[in-house]
Amino acid sequence: MTISVTSKKVGTSLNPENLLEIYHLKTYYPVKGGFFKRIIGNVKAVDNISFEIKRGETLGLVGESGCGKSTTGRTILRLLMPTEGHILFDGRDITRLSGKKLRETRKDMQMIFQDPYASLNPMQMVGDIIGEPIHNFFKKSKSELKLEVMDLIDKVGLSRDAYYKYAHEFSGGQRQRIGIARALALKPKLIIADEPVSALDVSVQSQVLNLLKDLQREFQLTFLFIAHDLSVVKHMSDRIGVMYLGNMVEITDKSSLYVKPLHPYTQALISAIPSPDPRIKKERILLKGDVPSPINPPSGCPFHPRCPVAVEQCSKVKPVLKEVKPSHRVACHLY
Ligand code: SF4
Repeated sequence: MTISVTSKKVGTSLNPENLLEIYHLKTYYPVKGGFFKRIIGNVKAVDNISFEIKRGETLGLVGESGCGKSTTGRTILRLLMPTEGHILFDGRDITRLSGKKLRETRKDMQMIFQDPYASLNPMQMVGDIIGEPIHNFFKKSKSELKLEVMDLIDKVGLSRDAYYKYAHEFSGGQRQRIGIARALALKPKLIIADEPVSALDVSVQSQVLNLLKDLQREFQLTFLFIAHDLSVVKHMSDRIGVMYLGNMVEITDKSSLYVKPLHPYTQALISAIPSPDPRIKKERILLKGDVPSPINPPSGCPFHPRCPVAVEQCSKVKPVLKEVKPSHRVACHLY
C-alpha cells in the first residue's frame, strides 16, 4: 500500500490508533548565492516522506548523518517550518499552526536532545530547569511545583539533592536524566529523542535506554527515536524507518528489518553490524562513493549511484514507498 491522501482527507487523523501521521513531508533549506544573495537552490533535507506512529509505540529512524532524520524530528515539533506536506498529531492537522495554538500543541510533544549539557541552562538550579515548563503552562504554588519536580527527579533515578545543584555538577548520564525529567514535566504524549545516548559513555548508554523504556511503560509515551547506531535503535524500537538522502527507503517492524531487510541500502547497513559471536562470519556489503549532495540529488532512485544491484530504470524513475509484504514498505524497483 502506498500512503497517499487527498488534501480533502487531511485535517483529521485517518486512523485513531495513530498518534502521529506524516504525509508527503518536505523540508527544504534555501541556498543563497551571488552578490544579491538570491536563492539559487534548496537543500532537500526531507524530501517527501510519509509514515505513522501508533499510540504507545516506538518508531526508530536510522540513516547516515545528514540523511534528514533530525530535520524530520524538528519539523514534526514545528521547530522548523515544513516546505510541503501534512503533520497530523492526535487527530489534528498541526502543519500550519502558529501562536497560542502551536504553543498548546507543543505541550504534548517534547524533545530529548543529543547533548544534554548544551540544552541545560548552566545558570539555573536543576529544580528550576525541570520546573520551568510546568511554571510556564500551569498556575501552581511554589510548594506544589517543588513536589512535582521532586517526583520527576525520583522517576529519572537522581537523588533529591539534585534539585539544588547546577548542571555542571553532574556526569553526562546524569545530565541526560535531567533532560529527560524536563521533557516529562508537561506529561507529553510524544517524545522525540534525537540521538539521546550517542554523547554518553557506552557503560551508561544502556542505563539511560532502559530508563526511557521504563518511563514509556509508566507514562504510556509514544517515541520517535532517532539514532545512527543500529544496535541502539534495535533495542528501543517496535518499528524502524530507514532514511537515505531525505527519503524514507524502508519501514517495517524490528524483526523483519534486521532478519530480512529488503532495500539494498538497509542490507548494507545491517551487514555492517558486528556479529555478537565472532565465530559467525558475516559478509559485509561495502558501498561505493559517498552520499551525494542533497542540494542536487541524483535523478531517479537517490541511491542508484551507490547501489550494487541497480538496473537501468533506477537512474530514470524514482521508486515510491509501497507495501510489498504486510506492514513492510520499501522504495525500490526490485519489489
Ligand atoms: Fe537500487 Fe534501483 Fe532499488 Fe534504488 S531502485 S535501491 S537503485 S535497485
